Amino acid sequence: MTFERERQQMIADIESGVAFTRTMTGRNRLDPRVMEAMQRVPREDFVPENLRASAFRDGALPVGHGQTISQPYIVALMTDLLELRDTSIVLEIGTGTGYQAAILSQLARQVYSIERIPELARSAQQRLSEMSCDNVEIQCSDGYLGWPEKAPFDGIVVTAAAPEVPPALLEQLKPGGRIVIPIGLPYSHQELMLVTRDPQGNTDTRKILDVAFVPMIEGA
Ligand code: SAH
Repeated sequence: MTFERERQQMIADIESGVAFTRTMTGRNRLDPRVMEAMQRVPREDFVPENLRASAFRDGALPVGHGQTISQPYIVALMTDLLELRDTSIVLEIGTGTGYQAAILSQLARQVYSIERIPELARSAQQRLSEMSCDNVEIQCSDGYLGWPEKAPFDGIVVTAAAPEVPPALLEQLKPGGRIVIPIGLPYSHQELMLVTRDPQGNTDTRKILDVAFVPMIEGA
């Protein structure tokens, strides 16, 4: 099965989501490169076998270990907010299934992704290798500390909710770089935030949207 119809429906759902939230996000449409990546990466291969038919529904899905694969619209929006170039080095915190990392790999030169649950880190790395996503490297560790050996980053995306922007991530961001992160307490009000650092090193934080993410847990 190719899921071609489902994939087209997912793209249409993302476009409606973007239109519906445009006054909050300031975005009328997403970068066509982001939409092409959403079209190209086989989302059905990132969800558990029994949920493949629901892979393209515009919602999050459980993927085991109490974790979820994020809603397609949110994956697309977060990717778009990073404004990646093909020279970008990007860090993701919360690899999960590896789906967001696969999308990023289409738009950046190199993707580093950190996951704290060893089984998820292992299976995501295997899945991405099988798909020949060769510019993604996954490490099993605590994302609160970032990945200092690979820093600085042009973009950092956090796919679990933290109470504040982890200071190590701010330190590992290049001037001109962007962090996209849900901020808030577990299972309560959370806001997707965009942190930008100008070439002089001053940071600015802007609220984008209310969201619901699994918590970012401190300690590996
Ligand atoms: N981006 C994923 C979905 C993320 S779900 C995808 O595309 O499938 C959030 C993930 O963050 C979970 O897998 C969870 O284990 C991980 N996580 C939570 N706290 C973390 C931390 N401190 N460091 C690294 N990963 C963390």
